[in-house]
Amino acid sequence: MSTDTIRNFIGGEYVEGGMPFENVNPVDGSVVSKVLEADKSLVEEAVAAARRALEGPWGLYTAVQRAEVMRRIAARIEERAGDLLAAEIADTGKPLALARDLDVSRASQNFRAFADQIASAGTESFLTEFPDGRRALNYALRKPLGVVAVIVPWNLPLLLLTWKVAPAIACGNTVVVKPSEETPSSAALLGEIMAEAGLPDGVYNVVQGFGPGSAGEFLTTAEGIDGITFTGESGTGSAIMRAAAPWVRPVSFELGGKNAALVFADADLEKAIAGLTRSIFTNSGQVCLCTERVYIQRPIFDEVVAGLAEQAKALRMGNPYDEATTTGPLISQKHRSKVFSYFAKAEAEGGLAVVGGGVPQMPAGLEGGSWIEPTLWTGLSHDSTPMREEIFGPVAGLVPFDTEEEAVRLANDTPYGLAASVWTGDLERGHRVGGRMRAGISWVNTWYTRDLRSPFGGVGLSGIGREGGLNSFHFYTEPTNVCVAL
Ligand code: NAD
Repeated sequence: MSTDTIRNFIGGEYVEGGMPFENVNPVDGSVVSKVLEADKSLVEEAVAAARRALEGPWGLYTAVQRAEVMRRIAARIEERAGDLLAAEIADTGKPLALARDLDVSRASQNFRAFADQIASAGTESFLTEFPDGRRALNYALRKPLGVVAVIVPWNLPLLLLTWKVAPAIACGNTVVVKPSEETPSSAALLGEIMAEAGLPDGVYNVVQGFGPGSAGEFLTTAEGIDGITFTGESGTGSAIMRAAAPWVRPVSFELGGKNAALVFADADLEKAIAGLTRSIFTNSGQVCLCTERVYIQRPIFDEVVAGLAEQAKALRMGNPYDEATTTGPLISQKHRSKVFSYFAKAEAEGGLAVVGGGVPQMPAGLEGGSWIEPTLWTGLSHDSTPMREEIFGPVAGLVPFDTEEEAVRLANDTPYGLAASVWTGDLERGHRVGGRMRAGISWVNTWYTRDLRSPFGGVGLSGIGREGGLNSFHFYTEPTNVCVAL
């Protein structure tokens, strides 16, 4: 794959065509590569290639054969980890250790986990008995959904893409992937890796470009798409739902969040502060699961605020390849402007930045990057704008509470419902409050501890459906129930 021009990957090869746009490195503002934006005809070509592969040899692979290819893909990802790391870091500016330990390692795990799962998955069957002695056997056959459109964001590009592509191909589907315009590289490189691992041509296709009026919209409205799996903003999910409505296409949506953490006075404060620091600042707050609202029981409020401020001050922004760097830039200047706009809103609505609150002075060479200071506010009311809207940056509002009942009410008072974390030394309270969170994922004394077999997704504005383990297979297959009279 050429590193200076990123082409669309269709039918097992990188194809020419499309208008170029620039892929910018957010660390210093330099241009990483030119990307060829897929027009309508390229998107249609990709969908047609995916259809041919579905009706060709790939459709004849057994589940075990598909699992074998997926294990080879996982191994090849590990062998080419260096190239994938370079691609992710150039596009996002995230620190090397994060890209290595989170993004690239999860990419191979995604393929292994779903390979294991499909190799052992069964289907349901029921023996149906009637009072007059008649009997019937009902069993479900699970067939692939077909050609699946996979549309993903920029924050964890390779992780989120493989989280959907792996179960989709495990179930025998073919995919057309549309990575974010901000992060085209790893999806493109994965085409080469898939071919090296022996995935038949056309099973994995990539179209590059933007959303509205570009590859994203062309893909969701293309003839021949059988389902859409999407991760991104809630507003985009709503637009995709409208676009898919005429065909009644099935959708699986993993959307935005405004995640709460509840810290009770009985918590192990050292552990809670360390966990909260990760949950607020990992990937510069650009993880859908990151905490942006922290509710702290009043007796420990000052201590937790001081502890978090100290941890935030210890974060180091800088070159992603420097071992001391803990924190990268935001993805783009545009996103920085959005995050920065909340700094003014916070101030106007009574917030006090106990740490951060501005744009840092970066050393020579990095001034052109989209850097922002890790920021914590006190003084904001639960109803203030920065406490209601998803900001998607290294920021959080810290608000005191008195009772468990109040904490639960505040945490659940949001149109979103993706993730929550509860910090307490009382096991019963952990179970009780954890279970009362109106969220798809509720962690107790931990954050972002994942088991790929467990359900993942959100309620309300945070999404539709669940993926993970068998939940993924439910979305990526269509069951046919066969009923045989005995
Ligand atoms: P986004 O919605 O702007 O873009 C996501 C993808 O959709 C991109 O590839 C984009 O080009 C494409 N797109 C945009 N408009 C489209 C349209 N009309 N039709 C088809 N495609 C379109 O999101 P983003 O800014 O890239 O990512 C950040 C968001 O993603 C945050 O809201 C975050 O919470 C969310 N997110 C959610 C999860 C989750 O699992 N719930 C995980 C990661 C990120």
